[in-house]
Amino acid sequence: MKPDQSFEHIEGVTHFPGNGQSDKPVCIMGSIHGNERIGAAILEELKGLLASVDLRSDVYLILGNPEAYRQDVRFIDTDMNRLFGINRDVISPGDNIEEKRIAEIVPALSESCYLLDIHSTIKPSVPFVYCEPDAKHIALATLMGVHYIVSASPNFTPDDLVTSADNFVDRRGGIGITFESGWHKDPHAIDDVLFRVKLFLQKTGACDFGLVQPENTTSSKHLTIYNHVVPQSTSFVFSRDFNNFDAVMKDEIIGNDGGTEIRAERDSFIIFPKKDIQLEKIACYLAHVS
Ligand SMILES: [Zn+2]
Repeated sequence: MKPDQSFEHIEGVTHFPGNGQSDKPVCIMGSIHGNERIGAAILEELKGLLASVDLRSDVYLILGNPEAYRQDVRFIDTDMNRLFGINRDVISPGDNIEEKRIAEIVPALSESCYLLDIHSTIKPSVPFVYCEPDAKHIALATLMGVHYIVSASPNFTPDDLVTSADNFVDRRGGIGITFESGWHKDPHAIDDVLFRVKLFLQKTGACDFGLVQPENTTSSKHLTIYNHVVPQSTSFVFSRDFNNFDAVMKDEIIGNDGGTEIRAERDSFIIFPKKDIQLEKIACYLAHVS
């Protein structure tokens, strides 16, 4: 079915109406961080693909941050994927690029019962999914075929972990999934990610591509973020050059913060270690196996 024109005036938002058999609209978003190129490429593929299939439910395709995408930067004024806090449920157009963009896409996001938000990395990295830990989220997350599915503990909710687009859809009773799809220069990336996105569209009932969900060759490890490391001095250093998902043992020294040793309180995985360490800004998260 051809895209309808109700969203045509909004750059980078395409709406494909469904045939009414399912009333659960699905949103696929990409490149909310403009330098993560895979998302935008997937959306282009989907535009052609969805025009020629019978959709049961409405599908929205959203290019997250078109201006940042044009400039091939993560963001122009603010990290757009940290702007979906509680107050975003009542939108007032802001005055920076990302705030304005949020106001533009919220109508489509608000309609959506499902969101797959596609990210990628500018350096080789392990693909993973970030989402809530309940069965409905995990069933969709598992489709992405990743080694790690990361959730935050309900007892641990710093701003960084509750202000992304998936959180926005979740708060409205939908299911939001953030898919960190890996390195965007991986030559297989587009085909692999497109396959996963088609599985997602199929599982959510938007359309039937006749695909069979493959047996995952490795089962996904479910990790729960339970704490973070926040430097209290300007001389904080990690004990080694951590990569995402590096394991540390209970009591292992993670870093030194102005003379104080920072140790893991239990066997953990290092999540999102920052290269650019800043005083009182999160240096990394710690997760345990769920
Ligand atoms: Zn991203």
